[in-house]
Amino acid sequence: MKVLKFGGTSVGSAERIKDVANIIIPQGKNVIVLSAMSGVTNMLIEICSYIRNNEAILAEQAITILSQKYIETIRNLFSEDNNRQAAAVKAMEESNKRIRSYIGNRFRNEDEKIVLAQGELMSTMLMHLYLHSLGVNSALLSALDFMRKSYNGEPDKEYITKHTNDILFRNSKADIYITQGFICRDCLGKIDNLERGGSDYTASLIGAAIKADEIQIWTDIDGLHNNDPRFVENTSPVRQLSFDEASELAYFGAKILHPTCILPAKQHNIPVKLLNTMQPSASGTLIGDIPDLPATIKAVAAKDNIKVISVKSDRLLLSYGFLHRVFEIFKDHTTAIDMISTSEVSVSVAIDNGKELDNIIKDLKKCGSVSVDEDMSIVCIVGNLHWNKCGLEAVVLKALEEIPVRMISYGGSNCNISIVIKACDKVKALNLLSKNLFYN
Ligand code: ADP
Ligand code: ASP
Ligand code: MG
Repeated sequence: MKVLKFGGTSVGSAERIKDVANIIIPQGKNVIVLSAMSGVTNMLIEICSYIRNNEAILAEQAITILSQKYIETIRNLFSEDNNRQAAAVKAMEESNKRIRSYIGNRFRNEDEKIVLAQGELMSTMLMHLYLHSLGVNSALLSALDFMRKSYNGEPDKEYITKHTNDILFRNSKADIYITQGFICRDCLGKIDNLERGGSDYTASLIGAAIKADEIQIWTDIDGLHNNDPRFVENTSPVRQLSFDEASELAYFGAKILHPTCILPAKQHNIPVKLLNTMQPSASGTLIGDIPDLPATIKAVAAKDNIKVISVKSDRLLLSYGFLHRVFEIFKDHTTAIDMISTSEVSVSVAIDNGKELDNIIKDLKKCGSVSVDEDMSIVCIVGNLHWNKCGLEAVVLKALEEIPVRMISYGGSNCNISIVIKACDKVKALNLLSKNLFYN
């Protein structure tokens, strides 16, 4: 069995939903994971902020705009089927009623999670009804019945494995399974989610739980490109990536993949294909246990909102224990470190989560003098870069010779060179890298 995930653009209109049906039906009995229709999660976030700020009229107006989008989709999906039109409109009205119930009341974080879940609940309901209108016996499975986080906020893999397999077994007569990406429950059973872009993660968690033959991530572009197409022209698809290369690219900003979605696939050696809903026959990108090719740089990505914190030891030389104390402070403030760089007497640490920045700085001052550079970006260069292959680092640094470089990290893995620069230099750096690495 395979897992096929379709992102927001892929289910963004009646036409798109019909295209998805044409892709999934011929592939047979698989698990289909859907995101909310494009723009819907953003609209729900906007509605939440109106509710939180007691702006009832604006909240109502935004719900009306959202409803219009659904009504148009429903009319086009079921133009000659009044019963299914009515069923879909009824489900939409129930969803809206739930959202409206928060207007004028105290709005808690857990209420926001319930509102955000409505996008995926609606898109899957529409797809399920549409498949039935074509005579396909799809089963609509609620991700809230099997997707759960444990007490540490990470997916509870044991629970997910057991409950996913149970629910598939209970619905084994279905032709196809439809479920929601992104949404889950927390360890207390309350509705939660896997963060923005988390439907990719849902797909790979299900893939791992059912030991799928393949995970397909269908989106609006023909695979992972060698640079970020939002900032660089003339990017081209990379046909094959190892799990490690894809993980690095996803973690360091390649938006096409959720940062953590490769790990479950890697742990179970499940190939991941990135495919284009608008051009289903394009080859896309295969991520898997691929053979070691000759030394090559394959792709570049960038991550924003980086802060670099430097700590200079009070002692003349770095004493043993200094790094331990520094890293423990980041752990105490539950802040993941993206990159480090050390000298004899100081260490620089790059982070993207700045929620605890003030407290971290306060504690770090006990270890030495502290300075912070905000508004930075990490540019990550990925490929088959084993250290004994000469010259690849030199080409990267040469390409960036016009850009001031704050930190460099190389040798942490065989597939990544990471460089911290000012955020305002990012677009120029990405373009210089494309020009010098891929098209010279
Ligand atoms: P979906 O809604 O299907 O999950 P996303 O918007 O999350 O789609 O991801 C697809 C988008 O990722 C593309 O439209 C593209 O703009 C962006 N993107 C960023 N970096 C890359 C890259 N290296 N290769 C391909 N797409 C990328
Ligand atoms: N709908 C969610 C979002 O927009 C999850 C996803 O699309 O993967 O972030
Ligand atoms: Mg996405």
